[in-house]
Amino acid sequence: MDKLKKKIIECGEVLSGDVLKVGSFLNQQIDTKLLFEMGKEIADKFAADNVTKILTIEASGIALAVATAFYLNVPVVFAKKHQSSNVTGNIYSAEVKSFTQGKTYTVVVSSDYISCNDKVLIVDDFLALGQAVNGMTELVSKAHAQLAGCGISIEKGFSGGGDCLRDKGIKVYSLAIIDSMESGKIIFRAE
Ligand code: 5GP
Repeated sequence: MDKLKKKIIECGEVLSGDVLKVGSFLNQQIDTKLLFEMGKEIADKFAADNVTKILTIEASGIALAVATAFYLNVPVVFAKKHQSSNVTGNIYSAEVKSFTQGKTYTVVVSSDYISCNDKVLIVDDFLALGQAVNGMTELVSKAHAQLAGCGISIEKGFSGGGDCLRDKGIKVYSLAIIDSMESGKIIFRAE
């Protein structure tokens, strides 16, 4: 998506540890016009896939998930990183290692919100090694739901997670795939 790539070049900041900071338009402050254009682009890609739910992980995936769900006219379910008192009853859980924090946490979702009748589209802000997406696919399979695929705003192609999912036959659509960020210079994969 050219508009997103342009924004990444203009406002993105490459930090140490292969982390791209996009706090000015996606991760802390949100450019809502761009966000909804991104959501529409992902929704269009999965329009024929009979998606019934969108699944993401709190907190940074929620905005894009909502924008995508708006255009697909389906609810958003977000997995919680801590089992709080308002997640009651039967739950599905998975372990996820955080790319940015390095620690492993448990994500949980109530069985009330994903069932065997659902076809789930996973949405997230970033895809790097694929640990967050793998955790979410585990939740989908524990719920005996079907997986429609993954919609991602920024994939760090050089980390390999996206191609690994594609090799497994999962439909992964990323709005911008970064092939290299060496010396702070961002190079996108050709479409
Ligand atoms: P993965 O689980 O695929 O290794 O990493 C994806 C998750 O880590 C995303 O949910 C995202 O929150 C976070 N993440 C990974 N790489 C980056 C990055 O370069 N910048 C930011 N802001 N978040 C990232």
